[in-house]
Amino acid sequence: MSSVSALKYHCPVTRREVQTSIQTDEVTLGTMHRMELSLWCPHCKDSHRVKASDAFVDFAARTWAMA
Ligand SMILES: [Zn+2]
Repeated sequence: MSSVSALKYHCPVTRREVQTSIQTDEVTLGTMHRMELSLWCPHCKDSHRVKASDAFVDFAARTWAMA
């Protein structure tokens, strides 16, 4: 059983953390490793091409949600 949580990445321009609307888990993220995602950035008001390997799942938020 795997839990999903929000996919996040670091904006390449502002270096700030961005939470996407994509809900995934570490297994799925692992299978997307070679993919490039086009993700909207609220800081730049633009989209970035982000490698799935550079994105991550917010495990801390998931733990919080389960508490
Ligand atoms: Zn950005």
